[in-house]
Amino acid sequence: MSFYFCTFASTMEKLLNDEQLHVLQEKIEKAARVACVCHVNPDGDAMGSTLAVAAWMKSLGKECRVVVPTRFPDFLQWMPGASEVLRYDKSPDEADTLLRTADLVWVCDMGEPSRALGMGPVVSECDGMAHSGNGPFMVMVDHHIAPMPGFCNIQVSRPEMCATCEVLCHLACLLGRVGDMSKAEATCLYTGMMTDTGAFTYASARSVIYECISMLLARGIDKDRIYRKVFWTYSPNRMRLVGYLLYAKMELLPGMNTSLITLTNKERRTLGVKNGDTEGIVNMPLQIRGMRLSAFISEDTEHPEYVKFSLRSVDDFPCNEMSARFFGGGGHKNAAGGRMRCTMEEAVGLFRRAVSEYESMLH
Ligand code: 5GP
Ligand code: MN
Repeated sequence: MSFYFCTFASTMEKLLNDEQLHVLQEKIEKAARVACVCHVNPDGDAMGSTLAVAAWMKSLGKECRVVVPTRFPDFLQWMPGASEVLRYDKSPDEADTLLRTADLVWVCDMGEPSRALGMGPVVSECDGMAHSGNGPFMVMVDHHIAPMPGFCNIQVSRPEMCATCEVLCHLACLLGRVGDMSKAEATCLYTGMMTDTGAFTYASARSVIYECISMLLARGIDKDRIYRKVFWTYSPNRMRLVGYLLYAKMELLPGMNTSLITLTNKERRTLGVKNGDTEGIVNMPLQIRGMRLSAFISEDTEHPEYVKFSLRSVDDFPCNEMSARFFGGGGHKNAAGGRMRCTMEEAVGLFRRAVSEYESMLH
């Protein structure tokens, strides 16, 4: 192993105690078959963290497969290893076998099995086996608040960190393997940190984030190219969709510094909207002066009886709390979401009620 000096090694808190670290190292060493899983509708951090771990595991000569619950956006298809990702919704039997027979399962960017939706039951089953000692060893790497107690054999969960990929940078440092990190792995880690922070425009004020980036640059990443690959890949239809939603659909709630955009499946069909075309649109109304909260409510494309809520805020407005109280979801303070079985009309009514409950925080 080549030596690499992590400038942040001395300042970072330990992610794991010595015993956990020892166990983790031993489990990695002994594992022949490894799987990495993440949450439904994987975003850049979910893909970045699972693909980074897969690149790492493969570099150690292990068989490793990433299994995602559902499709991931087209703008992440270029990521190293993305073409080998197994989709649970397409190949559930193959994925079940893979997970049940793995020696080691990495659970990335999710703190509870339910976040994997259809893949949740087999993740729970593996976790049950893991705790009785006759299944895969399970390691969670996450940055969401309050991971499910007892889920996975080892939990490395750091809500103060900007992305699961940041947690993995620290873990690489802790394991003394930064010098061995490939450009592909570093590229995945940068992608996750970049996407979870809106290209370092929010949730990214901790100086150590930039020490992580410095380390990734030293591993050879091309950060400008990664930015373009992720953010400048819009289809003409996506540009038209943005125009339509901002012009015709954005509603500003009077006196609330709140914006609401809705999108139905009928509109999706009319406008030729593809999955992923809506990505990031929820952030746009926050560019309006004084805006504090932005919501994007859309009918679920695969299960139209469900409506999805996507919330973004600035400063102290707690999107995760609102989402947990009203929309059966959760997430982070400034970016959260949820999903309810209801009509669009009911969803909008529910959102208006939620906003009026939080009126004092929105003025
Ligand atoms: P997005 O708006 O991009 O779909 O989600 C933003 C964040 O909210 C996600 O990173 C995730 O942390 C959280 N989130 C989204 N949907 C749900 C959900 O249904 N349940 C929970 N607990 N969190 C969600
Ligand atoms: Mn994340």
